[in-house]
Amino acid sequence: MFLVAGPCAAETEEQVLAAASALSVFAPVFRAGLWKPRSQPDSFQGVGEKGLEWLQRVEKETGLRTATEVTNEEQLVKALLAGVTYVWIGARTSSNPIAVQALANGLRKTLREEKVKLRGVMVKNAMHEDAPLWMGNVRRIQEAVEEHNITVMAVHRGCNHRPCWEMAYRFRQEMAGVPLLLDPSHMSGDAKLIGRLCEKAMTLDYDGLMIEVHPHPEEAWSDAKQQITPETLRETLRSLVKEVNVTDMPLRWLRVMMDEVDDELWKTINRRMAISRRIGEWKRQKGVAVRQPARFDDILTRRIEEEKSNGLAEETVTAICHALHEESIRQQ
Ligand code: PEP
Ligand code: MN
Repeated sequence: MFLVAGPCAAETEEQVLAAASALSVFAPVFRAGLWKPRSQPDSFQGVGEKGLEWLQRVEKETGLRTATEVTNEEQLVKALLAGVTYVWIGARTSSNPIAVQALANGLRKTLREEKVKLRGVMVKNAMHEDAPLWMGNVRRIQEAVEEHNITVMAVHRGCNHRPCWEMAYRFRQEMAGVPLLLDPSHMSGDAKLIGRLCEKAMTLDYDGLMIEVHPHPEEAWSDAKQQITPETLRETLRSLVKEVNVTDMPLRWLRVMMDEVDDELWKTINRRMAISRRIGEWKRQKGVAVRQPARFDDILTRRIEEEKSNGLAEETVTAICHALHEESIRQQ
């Protein structure tokens, strides 16, 4: 299994070297972001190119190969000339095919003109669910590294904390030859969920993992909630087993997809109840009765009609509407 581990971002030289030395026993590719695409202009934007020297020290002192994110050609060339062995294209860059093509062109040119140590490029899925865009981005990079001994891999990191298993399954089926890694850190945004996602990756036969690891996660300058310690990584990896001779793979994928839909369904039900409580508050203030039969009949009739075309039985639709309505009344 291909393992990429390290902090979300390089913060200080000490932090980078402490993380790398703790991780060296697992022999992962050591990741650290230098240029961080952040939502807010006043949050930590990454240390930039000075971190490249720290990554060189990591390689020299621990023997680990290094990886960093590049978002444009200038960063790509700097990283390659500094001897970084892997680069990845992050979710925000992946959302823009023009930016990915510019990176591909820069890569092709650099490989032609310079001697570099690059072994692989990892392409993350975009921030939104778009399997063709992800596959297209992978193809852009594949075309750029043709004739070079460089592996192009895909990283499934979910979209806005939704796993989007269906997107990954489609990628798996249509680009079966491309190694697929799971990034449970960005997928969940929560350190407590990393272990379970790693188990899912094994069940679904992923080829590797990219995990954010920080010596002191609570003090991290970015993504503090989702980073785990090297010790937690050790525990997590110890319990993972990859099965062989699996014959029920499509069923496994369909089940994770179904679990994801159920999670969304319950989240949606809870959102509905939160609105119900606000309606209840308004009714109380205005002295209006909680139960409004005409409004319910309206909702029910319209829903039965709409769902008929989706093939749902009238009794099922009626039962669900009644259950939702009764709980809403209770919440109000
Ligand atoms: C990262 O790997 O730190 C990162 C910014 O990831 P993503 O592009 O998946 O959000
Ligand atoms: Mn991160």
